Amino acid sequence: EAGQLADRLDLPLYVVGGCVRDLLLGIENLDLDLVVEGDGIAFARKLAAEQLGRVKAHDRFGTAVIVLPDGLKLDVATARTEYYEYPTALPTVEQSSIKKDLYRRDFTINALAVRLNGRGFGEVLDFYGGQRDLKNQAIRVLHSLSFVEDPTRVFRAVRFETRFGFHLGKDTLALAKAAVKMALFQKLSGHRLLEELKALCSEREPKSGLKRLAELDLLRFIHPKLSWTPRLEKLLFAVEETLDWYRLLYLDRKLEAWLVYMMAIAAVLPDRGVTDLLKRFPFSEREATTLKALRGGAHRLLRQLSKQPPLKPSGVCRILEGAQDEALVAIMAQSPSDRVKRLVSAYLTAWRQAVPRLTGKDLQSMGIKPGPIYGTVLTQLRDAHLDGLVKTEAEERAFIEK
Ligand code: ATP
Repeated sequence: EAGQLADRLDLPLYVVGGCVRDLLLGIENLDLDLVVEGDGIAFARKLAAEQLGRVKAHDRFGTAVIVLPDGLKLDVATARTEYYEYPTALPTVEQSSIKKDLYRRDFTINALAVRLNGRGFGEVLDFYGGQRDLKNQAIRVLHSLSFVEDPTRVFRAVRFETRFGFHLGKDTLALAKAAVKMALFQKLSGHRLLEELKALCSEREPKSGLKRLAELDLLRFIHPKLSWTPRLEKLLFAVEETLDWYRLLYLDRKLEAWLVYMMAIAAVLPDRGVTDLLKRFPFSEREATTLKALRGGAHRLLRQLSKQPPLKPSGVCRILEGAQDEALVAIMAQSPSDRVKRLVSAYLTAWRQAVPRLTGKDLQSMGIKPGPIYGTVLTQLRDAHLDGLVKTEAEERAFIEK
């Protein structure tokens, strides 16, 4: 439909970027990036209106996002060379051809386009050797200033290496090393660097990506004291295993795996590591809370959990209560003892869902006046339940009366 609309408007339309790359690799990718040689926003508005979708436009960049009723998301951009920013907030993007638009992109494999309408319908546009590089499994920049223009591209390169098992081309590798020497990454905002780290640590095997960052001497831009050590490697391996276990258990639950990796990184830093990371990167409130669960180190929690004599289930609950799943997975991965691992796993899978049989209503009918006491009584009851002191409802009543 987009192609037909573009035909009627007589505007050349292309699908570009990751979607074309994945199509040629035979990998599913439902994120469609469209580029129009013409007014991208006006095009997006018309297309959204015809398809009953919603549209959100960014005038300054000449881009728009369309969300169709079935949930499909389309990014629409105006073919352009650069962003120009004038104080007058007027649309100031210079319209230009698809070739120039593709030239601004990060790597040749991401600079491919397919024409969706008109005479060249279905043709692959490959100005920079993207198809050859896909075949050679090479990540190559389009020009020698690419990493200077945008240093996050080095991190993106590592991400694509990790995901596809590709490697940096020879010249691109040299340019990446030069960028590291120039320490261009110090100037990157916490926001952009965090976005890249999140993306890398959301890949299927972030461990090899992080190792590659270490090879390129990039870990120090996450934290000056971060380096690749056998301890970090072992921990990342344990995180991988624990995440696999978690995912098998809770196929339907969404876990921010990247955050678990971030916690592993924090765990190998000196004591102030978490505080430093919280200062450098703009974590959301929930993310920060999760990370802070480990402030003072996971070893503090682990020490509490490995107390002798062994903790009762209610004691474990008291220590772990309120912790996000990401923190629990991180603690499990960091635990050197199987016994502690089992405690956290029991908490995650069973104990934290435990509730007493009796409810507030029952307490009322037993003649206890409503008030804050209810919370205390019900928690005690739950604890007794967890620790096997009461089983039946009658035993619960007896426990309360006592
Ligand atoms: P993914 O599968 O991870 O989404 P993607 O290639 O689609 O990969 P996006 O971050 O969604 O990655 O970016 C879409 C396209 O925009 C890329 O294919 C690339 O052409 C371009 N792009 C993204 N980030 C940059 C950048 N920092 N510099 C230049 N081009 C970029």
